[in-house]
Amino acid sequence: MKIIPKIVDVIVIGAGTIGTATAWHLAKKGQKVLLLDRNQIGSGNTSKAASLMTKVRTKEELIPLIQETYNNIDEIEQITNQKVGKKEVGTLHFSASEETKINLDKTVALANKYHIKNRYIDKKELMNLVPWLDTQTMLEASFMEDDSFVDAYVLAKVFADAAIKEGVIINQNTDVESILFNNNQVYGVKTTKGEVHAPNVVDAAGAWSNDLSLKENIPIPMAAVRSIYWITESNKDLFPEHHPMLVIPDANVYSRPENGSLLFGLREENSPHFHPKHLNRFPNSDFLGNPDDRWGLIEKYGRKFQEFFPDFFDMGVKNVITGISTYTPDGYYTLGSFPGKKGFYAATGCAGAGVAGSGGIGRLIAEMITEESLFVNPEPFRIDRFGTFDPMSSDFRQRCSDARSNKKDGG
Ligand SMILES: Cc1cc2nc3c(=O)[nH]c(=O)nc-3n(C[C@H](O)[C@H](O)[C@H](O)COP(=O)(O)OP(=O)(O)OC[C@H]3O[C@@H](n4cnc5c(N)ncnc54)[C@H](O)[C@@H]3O)c2cc1C
Repeated sequence: MKIIPKIVDVIVIGAGTIGTATAWHLAKKGQKVLLLDRNQIGSGNTSKAASLMTKVRTKEELIPLIQETYNNIDEIEQITNQKVGKKEVGTLHFSASEETKINLDKTVALANKYHIKNRYIDKKELMNLVPWLDTQTMLEASFMEDDSFVDAYVLAKVFADAAIKEGVIINQNTDVESILFNNNQVYGVKTTKGEVHAPNVVDAAGAWSNDLSLKENIPIPMAAVRSIYWITESNKDLFPEHHPMLVIPDANVYSRPENGSLLFGLREENSPHFHPKHLNRFPNSDFLGNPDDRWGLIEKYGRKFQEFFPDFFDMGVKNVITGISTYTPDGYYTLGSFPGKKGFYAATGCAGAGVAGSGGIGRLIAEMITEESLFVNPEPFRIDRFGTFDPMSSDFRQRCSDARSNKKDGG
């Protein structure tokens, strides 16, 4: 059994993409870091992600964080001599109505501002790129060729391996029971294997972040909201291995290739939200929520998708995946310290983009802890931006669920 250290500079709780990236960034800055997970690296909701890393977001402040993740991937692949399974297939943003065309033009303007490669493409090229798509209703489409998707579980593993190379100690199967404070200053954590002392603790425990913070009266604005996607039967003619990811806001759909199949997510009008106490501590393949939704949602929302994918209802579907994304009411991450609680940092509220933004989140948290100048403005991500609220209340959780329903980009 691995011995747990007694004193470090920073303890990071949770070894998903966010926790592993944060541990790596901190260690690169010379911090002695302990990364703890009650389960295994990447086994939380990270293991469920569709893992689209769409660079352009309607919430502009997310873009530099996502760009940082791309830079980090190059670096950790080099350091560890491992691949994260990045597939650079590009993203097609597709519009079939005046409303989504206006948004698409704004998306393109943002891409230009952040030097993200993009070009408008015509129906003919689109048909060649995406054999399953009916382009008749297309008003406009933009191709962002450099976008990739990854395997989030592997990304967390490679971030963790890079972190180990920088001296991070990782203890898996170690449950953090509480964060320890003395006069509102963090001094460590109590785990199932004993106490560890540190002046800084990062709560990157994903859907379970509030379980720990609320014991110290720190409400983190976010709620556990269901994310869901399906995978069709294989059809290599319709779904070539390297065909682009697609975002179709007119049908509330995103998709990407998956080994000759199509992985597609249909955004629900009202995604179920959960009290953390009702979540399985060890995510598994059980369906989250009403089992009828497994196929019922395809029936309900698939009609709109069929307008763009005429063969949709002829395709067999071989798998449905549900997991938890931690949404905030405004769709921004929750990052940073809590007023009056020195040494506590939240790195959560992933807003369904915690794979894409993991590297940037890790860098920002590391810069906060080491008191360096910050590479992005942290204001939109502040933990106290919603004033007084109860993150466990049904009303607050509903606001977080609404943010997922209203999301128009990414995975
Ligand atoms: C279906 C689905 C699709 C998604 N698609 C995308 C996408 O396309 N693009 C994208 O960027 N993101 C996507 N996401 C979101 C993405 O999965 C997350 O944002 C990302 O993986 C970051 O997760 P995390 O590190 O915050 O949490 P997790 O991966 O859940 O990690 C938290 C960890 O904390 C540990 N932990 C909890 N409590 C304790 C404790 N008390 N003590 C010790 N350890 C503890 C858990 O064991 C867990 O390993 C999707 C999510 C889902 C569910």
